[in-house]
Amino acid sequence: MNTSLSDKDILLDTVMNTVIDGLIIIDSDGSIQRFNTAAEKIFGYSFDEVRGRNVKMLMPEPYHSEHDGYLHNYARTGDRKIIGIGREVTAQRKDGSTFPMELGVDQMQLEGKTLFVGSIRDISERRQSELTIQNYISQLERSNQELDDFAYIASHDLKEPIRGLSNNAQFLLEDFEETLDESGCARLQRMILLCNRMENLIDDLLYFSRLGRQELAVQDVDLNQVIQDIEVMLEQTLQENNAVLSISQVLPTVFCDLPRITEVFRNLISNAIKYNKNTEKRVTIGYTPIGEDNVFYVRDNGIGIDPRFSTEVFRIFKRLNQEDESVRGTGVGLTFVKKIIERHQGRIWLESEPGKGSTFYFTINTAAV
Ligand code: ADP
Repeated sequence: MNTSLSDKDILLDTVMNTVIDGLIIIDSDGSIQRFNTAAEKIFGYSFDEVRGRNVKMLMPEPYHSEHDGYLHNYARTGDRKIIGIGREVTAQRKDGSTFPMELGVDQMQLEGKTLFVGSIRDISERRQSELTIQNYISQLERSNQELDDFAYIASHDLKEPIRGLSNNAQFLLEDFEETLDESGCARLQRMILLCNRMENLIDDLLYFSRLGRQELAVQDVDLNQVIQDIEVMLEQTLQENNAVLSISQVLPTVFCDLPRITEVFRNLISNAIKYNKNTEKRVTIGYTPIGEDNVFYVRDNGIGIDPRFSTEVFRIFKRLNQEDESVRGTGVGLTFVKKIIERHQGRIWLESEPGKGSTFYFTINTAAV
């Protein structure tokens, strides 16, 4: 180490060259006084190459040309743009390449002179990762959109031949009923039934793709009113099943798509009654505020769902109770619910104990809709 350096200089050099960030000290004219090891690595210059030169050599245009004016303006008016504030700027390496960096500047007085200390962090990698993530998100959004479009086109085009099959089976049945024996007629009837089922599945697929393609019509929605309307809509089902629907507390007003959110609650409530063998079926609706979010829930005392299927139940056409004709559905309700929640930038999940009941939770990110 240079023996002519004072203890203070040695201390300053040691500290400067230990920190991970780049540090540059300039005087009030912009001339570089110190340049630590990290700055040497970041810019590709040695301290000797920059010593005494103007700091604008590290800046690309237009910052290069603007920097003198900025320093003079600050000296005259004290108007701060970076000092004590920090910001992201573009810098230039020795090889001419540019990179984004985070810059913090502070001012100090040393032996009557004004000096500025700049601390520098190369954020190229962070920027690159952000860009990569953004690219993935865009790709995902695009492929989701393409899937929805594909489902729409495919199901739309499938409808016609199915309808044709069903009609022809119907004609055969009508025109040849006398000629065909009983089992021939039964087969044609079965064909018509399967065609109808296929048509329903295609309609569900069409509706699913529509949920992904159509814009949401958002407005302030009083969820208490939503539940009241559903209660009226399901009055007969509730009575016939000896089911009681209750709200555990006054629900908030949220900014969402009214018909879609009504559909979410209606589906969850219908399932809570449908998959319930209890003599007194209970469905409770409530919410828990967690941070900025409200986590809504629909709880039942029904048959429950084996935790192994807690993700699968949301898959299209997935049903867990195939054997039970009395509650036969098409396995799309929860898929629609999930799609609607995701369109509201929310999340849905469930907790359940088989035999005791299930609770479906969901969030609606109203700010992001
Ligand atoms: P569907 O009711 O038409 O079969 P869903 O998508 O609404 O379709 O539900 C998928 C499956 O998840 C159902 O077939 C059922 O097995 C199960 N399920 C849904 N909700 C409940 C619930 N509250 N309790 C128990 N099982 C449920």
